Amino acid sequence: MAEQADVIIIGAGIMGSATAYQLARRKYGRVIVLERDGICSGSTAMASGGVRHQYAHRIGIQLTQQSIVVYENFEAEFGVDPQFHQNGYLILQQTEEERMVYFRHSCKVFNGEVMTRPAHSEHTDVDPTLALMRRV
Ligand SMILES: Cc1cc2nc3c(=O)[nH]c(=O)nc-3n(C[C@H](O)[C@H](O)[C@H](O)COP(=O)(O)OP(=O)(O)OC[C@H]3O[C@@H](n4cnc5c(N)ncnc54)[C@H](O)[C@@H]3O)c2cc1C
Repeated sequence: MAEQADVIIIGAGIMGSATAYQLARRKYGRVIVLERDGICSGSTAMASGGVRHQYAHRIGIQLTQQSIVVYENFEAEFGVDPQFHQNGYLILQQTEEERMVYFRHSCKVFNGEVMTRPAHSEHTDVDPTLALMRRV
């Protein structure tokens, strides 16, 4: 193994792997990723494949907005079709209290960066719900 590096990244989950990839693309220098287990064997291996924008910090929102661009161009860049389909994101609340908490939270945190709208489903007794629309 190399004894010197310009960057050492601990952990080869999606965050470490993507960071290493972006640094390599920019020819940042010698980038080493240290992983104690297998590549993407941690939380990344369990992810369900959903992309949402409701995060508590702006950087989380921006990160997921940028990730949409990556998924849209994934096949051109990596030669693999990720089967990425944008169908919206549905968040269910079971009670009026939950709905109000979420709605207040979304107004405060998303600050116009992510569009949400209430949706009433005819196919479920969970009502009302909030459906997250595509990124703005
Ligand atoms: C069941 C489940 C479903 C999920 N579904 C979604 C989803 O649909 N959409 C979504 O956006 N997110 C989802 N997530 C969250 C998402 O999987 C994580 O946010 C993301 O994978 C975190 O990536 P990471 O690289 O930070 O961490 P990890 O993937 O956990 O990677 C960390 C890596 O660091 C390594 N490591 C740790 N310590 C050391 C050390 N000291 N030395 C060397 N290596 C070390 C670990 O072995 C691991 O491989 C889900 C999570 C779970 C658990």
